[in-house]
Amino acid sequence: MAHQAKRLGKDREGTLADQAKKLREERERTEAELSRQRGYLATELGHVSDGSADSVDTAAEIYEREKTLAIIRTLQKKLASIEHALRATEKGSYGICEICGEAIDPGRLEVMPHTMTCIKCQARLERLQPPRSLTNVTREEE
Ligand SMILES: [Zn+2]
Repeated sequence: MAHQAKRLGKDREGTLADQAKKLREERERTEAELSRQRGYLATELGHVSDGSADSVDTAAEIYEREKTLAIIRTLQKKLASIEHALRATEKGSYGICEICGEAIDPGRLEVMPHTMTCIKCQARLERLQPPRSLTNVTREEE
């Protein structure tokens, strides 16, 4: 891994192909996780609404259901950014910040292949958002 060339320019084609491959793998993983969560919602939590469960279970399951729905929403958002980044690899605009047009740091792309903004613009965007998810911002990408 340490030997891998990170230079752009001559290696840019190869790098783009690598990133596209990575993105497709990431999409597969995300899709698998999404259908797992949806299946969980449909089978494990699907009987909440039939009214036969006792109230304690129902409260716990409603909580669990909310949690699962939140995970599904996060995965759907991630999937959308992966699709978006994949289209950018096809157009050749991958690795360029969508907001300021500067090249995105390769190290950042390494960690977050589906990102479409540079670290500076990302920080600016996050400042505009409510601060509740401050600790999740960098962690949820794993
Ligand atoms: Zn930028």
